[in-house]
Amino acid sequence: MARIKLDNITKEFGDGENSIVAVDDVSLEIHDGEFVVFVGPSGSGKSTLMRTVAGLEDQTDGDVVIGNTIVNELSPSDRNIAMVFQNYALYPNMTAEQNMSFGLKMSTDLTDDEIEQRVTEAAQMMGIEELLDNSPGDMSGGQQQRVALGRAIVRNPNVFLLDEPLSNLDAKLRTEMRTEINRLQNDLDVTTLYVTHDQTEAMTMGDRLVVLNQGQLQQVGTPLECFYRPANQFVAGFLGSPSMNFFTGHVEGGTFRTDGIDFDLTERIQSSLGDRNEVTLGIRPEDIELHEEPNSAHGFEAVVDVVEPMGSISYVYLRPEKQESEKTFVVETEGQRATTVGDHMYVEFPPESVHLFDIDSGETIHQRRLNEDAEEALRDRMEKNLSA
Ligand code: ADP
Repeated sequence: MARIKLDNITKEFGDGENSIVAVDDVSLEIHDGEFVVFVGPSGSGKSTLMRTVAGLEDQTDGDVVIGNTIVNELSPSDRNIAMVFQNYALYPNMTAEQNMSFGLKMSTDLTDDEIEQRVTEAAQMMGIEELLDNSPGDMSGGQQQRVALGRAIVRNPNVFLLDEPLSNLDAKLRTEMRTEINRLQNDLDVTTLYVTHDQTEAMTMGDRLVVLNQGQLQQVGTPLECFYRPANQFVAGFLGSPSMNFFTGHVEGGTFRTDGIDFDLTERIQSSLGDRNEVTLGIRPEDIELHEEPNSAHGFEAVVDVVEPMGSISYVYLRPEKQESEKTFVVETEGQRATTVGDHMYVEFPPESVHLFDIDSGETIHQRRLNEDAEEALRDRMEKNLSA
C-alpha cells in the first residue's frame, strides 16, 4: 500500500503550435488505501494523468511520488503498480490461469506453489475458479474482465490503476462489477486510482473524486461534496443526470430576472452577490416543485414540452409561459404522476436549493443549503478526509 502525491504535473504532447496540454499543473495527494476516481469528459486528461502515475507517460513537468519515493525516473515495472484496462489486454493463447500467473513467473522469484496459491486466492476472490482452464476466447466480456482484475490482484501491488475497466460491458454487468470492484477495493485496501467518464460510476465508487476538465483540476472531494458543494458550474453540470438547470440573468432590486422567469432572491442569497448584477442560477431537476394550482406568490407558469417516463420517476421538460425562446428546463417528478404535453404548471424554485455561479469564471458564489443531518454527514466526511 502507498500514498500517491502528484506535484504540479503538466503533460504536453508535441511542441510549438500543434502542442496539446493534456494535463495542466495538477497537484493532489491520494491517501494510503484510498479509492480515488478521476472523472471528466472525454479528452479531459484523465488517462494521461493516470498513465503518468504508471510511468507509461513521462510528465513534461512536476513530480510523481509513490510512498516516499519520487518515481519520475522509475520504469513502470519498478513502480509496483498493477493496471487494468478497458480492453482487458489478456493473452489470447493462454488460459485464464496462465494469464494470471505469467507476470509472477517472469518478474518475481516466487515458487510455483506460491504462485499457484496466489492465483487460487485471486480466482476465489473474483469467483472465476471454474474458468481457470479456459482461454479468453471462450469467456464473456465480464469473465475476461474478472481475469484481468485477478491478474492485477496476484501481483500484490502497492497501487491499482483501473482505466475505464467497465466500459466494454453491458449495463447490467457494469452495475454488478461496480459493486464488486467496490467490495474488492474495500477488502484489499490497496490505494486505487480509477478513470471513468461515467458520472454514475464516479458517484458510486470512489472515496473521493478528482474532477478534470481540459487538463485542469476542477475539484477534489467526496462524491456528495462535489455533488452538493460543486466548486464551479462545470462540476455542478457534470455530476447529476439530467444535469443541473442553468439560467443566466440579471439581478434587479433583489429579483433575478431571465427570459420568462422572475425569482425573488432571499437576503442570504443576495448577500453572496457582491457587486455582480449578472449571474448564472443553477437548480437540479429533483429540487424544482411543480404544482397544478398557484402555490405561492413566488412561482411562475410554465408549459410541459416533453415527458420522459423512466418508471419510478419521470423527467418533465417545461418552457416558461412568458419566455420568448424555445429553451426548456427539466424537472424530476414521481413516475405515477400524470403529466401531459401542453399542461400548464406552476413552478417553484425552493430558495434553499438554488446555486449561483459567476457568469465569467463559472465559480460558485452561492451553494444550496442542506438539511441539518445531511450537512453534518458531509462535514464529518470532509473532516475525516482532511485528517486522513
Ligand atoms: P481522457 O482520458 O480524459 O479522455 P486523455 O488523457 O486521453 O483524456 O487525453 C487528453 C488530451 O491529450 C486529449 O486532447 C488527447 O487528444 C491528447 N492526447 C492523449 N494522448 C496523446 C498522445 N499520445 N499524443 C497526442 N495527444 C494525446
